Parts: sequence; structure tokens; C-alpha cells
Amino acid sequence: MAFDYDLFVIGGGSGGVRAARIAASEGGATVALAEESRMGGTCVIRGCVPKKLMVFASGYPDAVEDARAYGWEASIGGFDWPAFRGKLDRELDRLEAAYRSGLTSAGVEIFDERATVADAHTVALASGRKVTAKHILIATGGRPFVPDFPGCELAMSSDDVFQLESLPSSILVVGGGYIASEFACILHGLGVEVCQFYRGAQILRGFDDEARGHVASAMIDRGIHIKCGTDVIRLEKTERGVRAVTTDGSDQEFGAVLYATGRRPNTRGLGLEALGIELGRHGQIPVDGWSQTSVPSIYAVGDVTDRINLTPVAIREGHAFADTVFKGEPRQADHELVASAVFTQPELGSVGLSEEAAREQEPIEVYAAAFRPMQSLFAGRPDRVLMKLIVSQASRKVLGCHIVAPNAGEMIQLAAIAVKMGATKEDFDRTVAVHPTMAEELVTLRKPIRTA
Ligand SMILES: Cc1cc2nc3c(=O)[nH]c(=O)nc-3n(C[C@H](O)[C@H](O)[C@H](O)COP(=O)(O)OP(=O)(O)OC[C@H]3O[C@@H](n4cnc5c(N)ncnc54)[C@H](O)[C@@H]3O)c2cc1C
Repeated sequence: MAFDYDLFVIGGGSGGVRAARIAASEGGATVALAEESRMGGTCVIRGCVPKKLMVFASGYPDAVEDARAYGWEASIGGFDWPAFRGKLDRELDRLEAAYRSGLTSAGVEIFDERATVADAHTVALASGRKVTAKHILIATGGRPFVPDFPGCELAMSSDDVFQLESLPSSILVVGGGYIASEFACILHGLGVEVCQFYRGAQILRGFDDEARGHVASAMIDRGIHIKCGTDVIRLEKTERGVRAVTTDGSDQEFGAVLYATGRRPNTRGLGLEALGIELGRHGQIPVDGWSQTSVPSIYAVGDVTDRINLTPVAIREGHAFADTVFKGEPRQADHELVASAVFTQPELGSVGLSEEAAREQEPIEVYAAAFRPMQSLFAGRPDRVLMKLIVSQASRKVLGCHIVAPNAGEMIQLAAIAVKMGATKEDFDRTVAVHPTMAEELVTLRKPIRTA
């Protein structure tokens, strides 16, 4: 049977764009891609990129304070949000155009509309047109999830932050994950009074406990009011903003409320259930190691599969799919030892097992140092950094590395190479330190602080 395309990709985000480009430019496939919103997807338009630029913006008050401590005459005025937002919008327009031209120059045909799956080889476009493809790739990503409760419509999501006309004077951030914690720090840095409520015992669940505690206490020291074990029962509109009534019986008024309480895969109305694809509890698409669904012609990559919801993982999955199906180079995306960073202030960089997870697996040694780094010590800041290694007693391999420090994201990227290569504690030890740096601590940790 002749198809209109070899591949039809639904979703122009990190995973979909990579798969489409590689299939067309290196696999010689005829490819079309449908995007219902803006090309580039979550990462470029309402995720990693605008967030990181806001992280940079929020760091300047501290930098100016430090400059003064180092002898500079410096002062900082107010933050001009409309000016920043205008520049941010222009940068995102530029990136969106670059993604679009990357696709068209690879020969990918773009449909700027919503697409759904009509059958194993047919895609239905919102315009009413139907097209056929030998393979269909679902790369529709995810969206913010706000639970249903009285007044939930008064809460904004992370998508809305980038669209604010003005910054509120105070905000309640609900959630304890990396997105909630990052926005708490960003908004605090931009001069907003921030409260963060999380119903669990400590923010950043899933990361190493000691590292989580370190980040949380640094955030509290900086003036973010973190309240764990607290949830919102209802939100009420007030004259000046929103009142949150909480599980502990108290209520407080804020200029705005941001819910960052998780994300859900974008599978609603895609037509997959009708084809016999049984979706997971949160709507995620079950796939095998090749990103193939239970319908052989349909694949799925990225957040919509809810494996590891990070941009570089979606890109790797999309690339591995295109190599396998269109280049004759079968390859599965590797989900082992994926490093990640939380861009709080201070940052958290992490690769491998937390102390708690490693302890469950095998006997371990824990090496850690918490100290005040030279730069902030001199500036008179209380900030402390944490460098931590989890080591297997049997193989001596470094099973996990956790860093809480300025630029921990940059450091963990490099440490991750060693950990991925299976470096032992002794490999770290025989690496000569770079002095004076914070990261030199990673190669000079002498004695375990505990074994377990
Ligand atoms: C605030 C925030 C911060 C983040 N920070 C980081 C970070 O620092 N580092 C990191 O690695 N990751 C980060 N992420 C996660 C990262 O953005 C995602 O993991 C990544 O974008 C997933 O890529 P994807 O291709 O699976 O989906 P997406 O990038 O979400 O792309 C899916 C695309 O599909 C489109 N679409 C959906 N349904 C349809 C349809 N039916 N028809 C046509 N088009 C459709 C959507 O409009 C969207 O453009 C962040 C996410 C958020 C929300």
C-alpha cells in the first residue's frame, strides 16, 4: 500500500522535532509534522529555556550584593518585568523560527494544526484533511496538572507565569517538585514575597534526602517561606488577590497562586484507545524499549510516555527511534544514569542513586562534605555547598553523585561522564584536584562519613 508519508510526527517539541529531522535528513524518509501550538514545544516555549533565562534574571540582586562585598560601588534598582518579558518573547520567537527552519530545510512538511490518530496508518488533521503514513510517531508531551478543588480556577500554572502582565507582590507556590521549587526561587529573586506549600514532608521528593534538606534550608535562609505538610483546601478571590485556606486551618492572602503540582501526558482525544492502545493511569502511552506501542506502526517518545520527563531524554528517544526505523541502525534510548539539575538557588545537580535508594540495593559508603565556599565566605554570605558521593562497598563504583552549589548543573554534567563510565571511588581519588574550586572536594573526600 502506498502512503502519503513514511513518517507522520504529532507534536513539534524536543522529541518530535529531533525524530522528524533525523528521519528526513539522514534516513531519507518523507516526513510530515503537525504542531497545534508553537514549534519547539514545552522546553523552548514554556519550559527549560524561558525558565533558565528567568533564573539568570533572578540572580542579579545577589550578584550586586556580592559585588559590594568585594569592594565595588554598586546598587540595583527595581526589576523591569515588562522589559524583560518583551526581550524574552523576542528570544522565543527567534528560537521558534530556528526550529521551524531546521525542519523545513530537512524537507519536513509542517502542518500548523492539531492532529489525531484515525487508524494505525491514518492521521486526521483539525482542518478535516486525512493523511496516511507508514509510521506514526506521537510526541505530544505533557501539560500542567492542577487538581480539582474549590477555587482551583484562581490558580495559575507554570505556563501562565511567562505571560504575566506584571509580577505580583506576593505569591503562593503550591508543589514540592523541581518546577515548583525553581519558580519559588526565581520569583523570590525577582523581588516577590514567596510562600511554598507542599503536602509531603520535604520538597524535591526523589532526590537524595541530604541534598533536598540542604536546598530547602538554603531557600528558607534566603527568605522563602516553605511550609511542608500543608495543602490548600480552597482558594477565594479577594480584592487584592487570592486567599488560600489550608489544611492546618489557617488562611493567608497572596497576590497570586501558582500550582506546580505535576504534569500529565497529552493524550486526551488523540484516538489511541479506539486502536486498542491502553493508556497508563495518568494517560501516558505504554511503549517498549524501542518506543513502540502495542500497534506496531505507532511509536511514542518524550513526556507523553512518562519515562524520564526531561528534554535531553525526549531528544535521545526521538533520535533512537529515527535511527532504528529509518536508518537501519537499531538502537534503544539509554535511560540509565541520566543526570539532572534543579535550578534553585543554590542549584542541585544529581546523577545516579540517592543514598536512600543505594542503601536498598547494596552495602554502601557515603562520602560528603558541606562547607562555605570561598567566594560567598568572603562576601559574608551564610551559603554552604554540599558535595556527596555514594560508593558501592563491593565494586567500589560511584553509584551516585549529588552536588548542591552555585552552578551545580554545570558540575554534574562532567561528573556524570565519570559515573556513566563506571568510575570507582579510587578513580576519583587519583584524579588531581583543580584548585581552588568547589568541585575539587569531589576528588579529596578521604573517609566515609557513614556506611550502610
Ligand atoms: C517549567 C518547566 C521547566 C522545565 N525545565 C526543564 C529543564 O530545566 N531541563 C529539562 O531537561 N527539562 C525541563 N522541562 C521538561 C521538558 O520541557 C520536557 O521534558 C520536554 O519538553 C519534553 O519534550 P516532548 O517532545 O516530549 O514534548 P513537548 O516539548 O511538550 O512537545 C509536545 C508538543 O506537542 C504539541 N501537541 C500536543 N498535542 C498535539 C496534537 N494533538 N496535535 C499537534 N500538536 C500537539 C504541543 O503543542 C507541544 O508543542 C521543563 C518543563 C517545564 C514545564
